[in-house]
Amino acid sequence: MIRETEAIVITSHNWRETSKLLTFYTRYFGKVKAIAKGARRNKSPFGSSLELFTHLHLIFYERENRDLQIVSQSATEEPFQEMREDLKRLSYGCYLGELVDKGVRGKEESQDLFKLLLGAFHLFKNGYDLELTTRFFELRFLELLGYKPHLHRCVSCQRKIVDSFYSPGQLRLSHSLGGSLCPNCHLKDREATPLSPPALSLMRYLQNTDLSKLNRLKVSLQLRQELKSVLYSYLLFRLEKRPKSLDFLEKNLQ
Ligand SMILES: [Zn+2]
Repeated sequence: MIRETEAIVITSHNWRETSKLLTFYTRYFGKVKAIAKGARRNKSPFGSSLELFTHLHLIFYERENRDLQIVSQSATEEPFQEMREDLKRLSYGCYLGELVDKGVRGKEESQDLFKLLLGAFHLFKNGYDLELTTRFFELRFLELLGYKPHLHRCVSCQRKIVDSFYSPGQLRLSHSLGGSLCPNCHLKDREATPLSPPALSLMRYLQNTDLSKLNRLKVSLQLRQELKSVLYSYLLFRLEKRPKSLDFLEKNLQ
């Protein structure tokens, strides 16, 4: 069956002599793995439209019971070459791509996820804060997968959590229960990680704000570090496997 959709290239590998093996996240068909035959030839009909991170118009042949589809035609909508030319942006882009690749298992489509990824790439391209854009992406991504961390009430006793009531060390984030725990309920999950009140507020803010407002946010280095490690461990619990691109990313942040 011939399928036509917008798509974003999230992984790209060489395949045999002249071809490419690609993973796309598409607007209408979710994640699609496909071979582009002859894509590495000098006069490839695909031109540069299959480079990593490219937003493109894609036509592919789908066979229901096959994991690998065949790319038929493609045309660039937005090349995002700025993301391939800068090591930091490249690292963050690979990480987001891998989150989508690992986190989305089946063929379920999500236009919201497509828009989230495309929106994040636009911010990367336009020089927005890479780190906060990534944290925003992680939180929204968890929500779209059905794992939104619940941060307004204690996930055990349902008591409302007012962040200013607590001092550092009193609140925890439980991966398995899916949200914040008040001091009375710590023992409900012994593996819950500490969560400072400012980190809790920032996560709540990121869950409700809009991509375009991210550039106005001022966040201290210490809070950035905390948010990063809290979200990494939360994501790791859900993905069950550490993304390989995380090591690449950490190395390039030095
Ligand atoms: Zn509680």
